[in-house]
Amino acid sequence: MSGNAELRTFYLPAALLLAAAALLPAGGCGRGAPEGPAVVVSSGTFTSSLDAVLKSGGLDDRERFLVSRALRKDLDLRRLRPEDPYAVSFSTWGALFGLKITRDLREYEVKPSSGGYAVEVRDVELTSASKKLSGEIRSSLWESMSAAGVPAAVILDYADIFSWSVDFLTEVRDGDRWALSWDYSSDPAGKVVSQKVTAAYYDGAETGRKSAAAWGGGYYDETGDSVRNMFLRAPLHYRRISSYFTNRRFHPVLKIFRPHQGIDYAAPYGTPVSAVADGTVTWAAWKGANGRLVIVRHGAGYETTYGHLSRFAGGVRRGRRVSQGDVIGYVGSSGLSSGPHLDFRIKLRGTPLNFLKMKYRSSVSVSGKAKEAVAAAIKALD
Ligand SMILES: [Zn+2]
Repeated sequence: MSGNAELRTFYLPAALLLAAAALLPAGGCGRGAPEGPAVVVSSGTFTSSLDAVLKSGGLDDRERFLVSRALRKDLDLRRLRPEDPYAVSFSTWGALFGLKITRDLREYEVKPSSGGYAVEVRDVELTSASKKLSGEIRSSLWESMSAAGVPAAVILDYADIFSWSVDFLTEVRDGDRWALSWDYSSDPAGKVVSQKVTAAYYDGAETGRKSAAAWGGGYYDETGDSVRNMFLRAPLHYRRISSYFTNRRFHPVLKIFRPHQGIDYAAPYGTPVSAVADGTVTWAAWKGANGRLVIVRHGAGYETTYGHLSRFAGGVRRGRRVSQGDVIGYVGSSGLSSGPHLDFRIKLRGTPLNFLKMKYRSSVSVSGKAKEAVAAAIKALD
């Protein structure tokens, strides 16, 4: 058997009642005499091919061919992956009693039928549930939420919702409060297959209280305004950075400095840098003391610059359109720079602005019943 396969042997008929019954086609039990064949139940995931799994159960060439042929109409057997589970039962007499394969939220059940095998395909039954958690910041958002039991995917969704109003890499302080509720659905094995944050708030010393609840396809605060804005709160985007550093088992707590009419984000070499708003690249090249520099022109006369990059993101060059959050380059120390950091600046028609003090009102909002529902969802967090 391959690495993560589990093998159990039961003797008919009692064993069938215990564990194999769920797996076997109806009527399969009838084949067992009191001293009849053993039923071998094996389960695992596809670290090897289906053929190898069936072979290790003692199925002969012809039976294996018939099973594969029956399945092939509905399932591409070459695409079975180590995350796809199976459960199979054989008799020690060499016959296949039943086989179940789960892939992409569908279940394929193979049963013996006259002269061969028949396959039934059905959607995996998902279970829906909701959860609500709250807590206080100790060190970082990631550590505090993880410790409280918020799954990684939900932390990232939460950070996305507030990515226009809170920089979770530099504006988080010990003692800040967070809360969120989310819906999720899981497959029969308990694996979560989707999740959606329904309401959330972040109440911080630096940030003030920010709240949001889902309505339609978007998120709105308790006054009914969309949480979306023309500019992201920071050019170092929480989700981008988290996925970048996950494999390195390192979650940076960044620092910002204000030595000039811009912001320096001290960050490790290679940290992805995102455009804070939709726009057009007007410069992506070396520029004196700035080193490798990207300039993006946005609507309404705004322009942002990103300096000292170690390299540009693929395809970023003059004239190229970029969307808010797109990675345009990576933190470095090129040009006149004493260590790896991003030099970020914003100008309005040539005049430097204090990015952290800029105030916007969202142009999108909901009213009436929608606004009431949003406010109620936020209030329910307390
Ligand atoms: Zn600088």
